[in-house]
Amino acid sequence: MPDRDGKCVHDILIEWGADMFATEIKKCGEMLQHHHCQPVCHKYGNVDRCRFLFPHEVVDASYFDPESNAIVLVCRDGTMNYFNPYILVFCQHNHDLKCILSGKGVKAAMFYISDYITKMDVKTCEMLSLLSCSGSFA
Ligand SMILES: [Zn+2]
Repeated sequence: MPDRDGKCVHDILIEWGADMFATEIKKCGEMLQHHHCQPVCHKYGNVDRCRFLFPHEVVDASYFDPESNAIVLVCRDGTMNYFNPYILVFCQHNHDLKCILSGKGVKAAMFYISDYITKMDVKTCEMLSLLSCSGSFA
């Protein structure tokens, strides 16, 4: 990566220009964003498929799907995690962006993040079930 020399992102982008930024996106993407299935992908009964749903479907152009009422975004490489180019280049860390539009999706993300951060033996949904009279958090 070119030297940042204490400059802000805006100044760096002007100095680099679009071509150099595109090169950095490609370099960082190749290095950090590819998903390679590992044993963790097949936990929880996902014997024959990746539980993170890789490879993603390759989509040539973004479109609206009226059946699912969703916007399907372009995907040129099914093994890449979804990313933001600015986060990728300037943080130089892998990440996986998802648009969460439902309460169910928010709850699943909250459980995943809580379990990932705490690394506790008891899963968040199990702990919340113990606190709830109805046990309806799971
Ligand atoms: Zn996988």
